[in-house]
Amino acid sequence: MNNAQLNELKQRYVANGAASPATQFADRAENALLWDADGNRIIDFAGGIGVLNIGHRHPKVVEAVKAQLDKVMHTCQTVMPYEGYVKVAEKLSQITPVRGHAKVMLANSGAEALENAVKIARAATGKNNVICFDGGYHGRTFMTMAMNGKVAPYATDFGSMPGNVFRAPYPVPYHGVSEDEALRGLKMALKTDANPRDTAAIVLEPVLGEGGFYPAPASFLKAIREICDEHGMLMIVDEVQSGFGRTGKMFAIEHSGVEPDIITMAKSMADGMPISAVVGTDKHMDASGPNSLGGTYTGSPVSCAATLAVLEVFEQEGILEKSQALGDKLAKRFAQWQQTFDCVDNGRNMGAMAAIDLVADKATHTPDADLAGALCKKAREKGLILLSCGLYGNTIRFLMPVTIEDEILEEGLAIVEESLKELVGSQTAATA
Ligand code: PMP
Repeated sequence: MNNAQLNELKQRYVANGAASPATQFADRAENALLWDADGNRIIDFAGGIGVLNIGHRHPKVVEAVKAQLDKVMHTCQTVMPYEGYVKVAEKLSQITPVRGHAKVMLANSGAEALENAVKIARAATGKNNVICFDGGYHGRTFMTMAMNGKVAPYATDFGSMPGNVFRAPYPVPYHGVSEDEALRGLKMALKTDANPRDTAAIVLEPVLGEGGFYPAPASFLKAIREICDEHGMLMIVDEVQSGFGRTGKMFAIEHSGVEPDIITMAKSMADGMPISAVVGTDKHMDASGPNSLGGTYTGSPVSCAATLAVLEVFEQEGILEKSQALGDKLAKRFAQWQQTFDCVDNGRNMGAMAAIDLVADKATHTPDADLAGALCKKAREKGLILLSCGLYGNTIRFLMPVTIEDEILEEGLAIVEESLKELVGSQTAATA
C-alpha cells in the first residue's frame, strides 16, 4: 500500500490520541536511513526517539532475534523462566552503577519501568510520596502522567491524577533557574509539602530529555544523594532516554560519580524491540512479595535476545567512543550555527545527547517555538526527520544513531542549514 492509502486507513481506524501527525509510512530501514511506502529516502535524526543508538536493524541484533524466534517466542517468565531473562539480569547488574549488588526486573516500556521503580521504592521504605522535577518526563500511564513536569498534552483529557507526587525545580540556568535555587526549591518541597517521613523517593532524569536536554550538574546530583541518605529516601534516576550510550557513557549518571539506589532504562536497550528494566540495590529490589512485579510479556525472550546482542555490539564496536565523537562533531557544528544564525542559541551536548534552541532574541533567550516547528516541517519535506522538545517547545534535539555514516550525517546537517536559511532569510547574519 502507498502513503495515500495508508493515510486513509489511519484516518478511519486509528484513535485520535494515538494517530501520528506524520503522513509518510515507514516501509524499510537501515542504520540512519528510512524509506517510506512510496519509496522516498529519509534521513533519521530522531532514532525512533532515542531508541536506535546503534542504528535501525543492526545486523547482529536482527540475527539474534531471528535465532530466538526459532527457539521460544513466549512462555510468560513466571510460568516458565528462560535463559535470556536471567542473562540480561546478570549483565545489567554488572554494568549499572547503583549502590552495592544490583538486582533487576524487566518490563515492556519506559513508563512501566518508572511505575515499577515507584512500587519498589514504596515497598522498600514503607513510605508513599515521590518528588519529581519541573520539565521531567516519565510516561503516559497514570502514575507517570502525575510525575511528569508538564501537563499538556499528556494529562489534559484524563481527569484527576494519582496523588503523592510533589514537584521541585530542575536546575536550568539558561532559563533562570540556578543550581542553588533548584536545591532550595527541593528542600522547600520537602519541608512544606512532601515531608521526608512520608517520602519514598526522589525521581529525576540526570539529563532532562523531553524537557530540553539539560544535564543536571554533578554537584546537584551529589546533593540529592545526600538528601536521600539523610531522610531514608531512595534516589531513582530515570535513564530511559539518556541511558545506553547516548551521553558517551553507558549511563549519564556515570559522568557525576553518584551511585543512585535505582536506575530505570528502556529505549536503546534492544534496538527497537520493546523492553525496559529497573535495576537497583538488592535489598530494595527484594522488598516486595512474590509475584508482585512484572506481567504477561515482561522481559520477553525475543526482547531479551535483542538486549544481549545490543550489549555485545557495545563491547565490540566502540559505541561509547562513537557517541562521544558524534557529540564533539555536533558541538562544533552548533558553534558554527550560532555564529551564522541569529536564531540559533544555547548549543549543548553530553556525548551525543545534543541540542540547540531556536530563539527570537539571543540576548533575552526568548524561545521561538513556531520557528522550531517550521524547521522540523521543512526538514521533513526535504527528507530529514528532526525532532523538537523542551519546556518551551523551541529545542531541536539530535538523536540520530551514533553509528551514522559521515556522509549521511553531513547530508542531514546540510538539510538543517538549508532549511534554516530558507526560513530565516533576512534574519541570517552577514557571515551566512
Ligand atoms: N522516561 C524518560 C526519561 C523518557 O524520555 C520516556 C520516553 N520519552 C519515558 C520515561 C517513557 O518511556 P515509554 O514511552 O517507553 O513509556
